[in-house]
Amino acid sequence: MDDSGTLYFVADEMLGTLAKKLRLLGINTVYVKDADDSEIRYLARSQNRILLTRDENLARILGDHAWLVTGRGVREQFLSIAERLAPFSEKIISFSRCLDCNEPLTTIQASETGGKVPPYILSSKTHFSRCSSCGKVFWEGTHSKRMGQEVKWMREQLMDRWRAGAGEHGRMGARGERDS
Ligand SMILES: [Zn+2]
Repeated sequence: MDDSGTLYFVADEMLGTLAKKLRLLGINTVYVKDADDSEIRYLARSQNRILLTRDENLARILGDHAWLVTGRGVREQFLSIAERLAPFSEKIISFSRCLDCNEPLTTIQASETGGKVPPYILSSKTHFSRCSSCGKVFWEGTHSKRMGQEVKWMREQLMDRWRAGAGEHGRMGARGERDS
């Protein structure tokens, strides 16, 4: 987490699918394969990332710097961190990050798409964005219906918990009045 309260994650080897789900929500999530515990811990510490792990021991050692993920399917896994994620709901900008590279997407003009978009899309869509790392171009409709439904489901889960939490702590007031 940085000063602005933005979340940064590093997901361990077992959690590649969850990492992609979080990227769908625009959350900066690095995913490491074939790294040992000490490398992962170094990455988490040096980049100020919260470790998402299924390893109870590791989670205990890292304390607040790790979130323990439980559950078998990816939805169960998401639900296991949903409560802790909920306070950050307002910062979430879905479809703002490349699912492959974890890089933020930049808005571009139709004229900048460089032949990577079929002509019928160019003439019918107005919003385009590009990954600064792999150069892939996205437009409204690039993501499948299933991904859209998945994002909707995740946002609903977070909003439910955010509302419940805000009520509990008596800070439901206007945006500016909430704790920062
Ligand atoms: Zn990319």
